Amino acid sequence: MIEQSLAQPAPPSTRELRGLALYRDHHDEIKHTGHGRYEVPGCSGGRYEVNLAIAGGTESCNCPDRAPVCKHLIAATIFRAKSRAKARREQHQRTASRASRGNLAPLAAAL
Ligand SMILES: [Zn+2]
Repeated sequence: MIEQSLAQPAPPSTRELRGLALYRDHHDEIKHTGHGRYEVPGCSGGRYEVNLAIAGGTESCNCPDRAPVCKHLIAATIFRAKSRAKARREQHQRTASRASRGNLAPLAAAL
């Protein structure tokens, strides 16, 4: 009884985790191909087209998985979120850099 409760549970195998693993292992192979569209590698070497439906439509992937949300959709969603965060960071750095140059200009002129 005690041994059973201490036993390691089987690792969960859900689409969410498989999507995370797909992103982790193959994020450098995901390509942004257009507005809300991504090309995501499949496990068996193929590539699937994912549409994240920015304009309010239905998200889609052309893989054989009939689930509403497949692992390619999840990987593409993570890819998009990370890309947006990176773009925001870079924008912030550019803005901060300009602001600091602006603040230092009067000081530099006074020297
Ligand atoms: Zn898919």
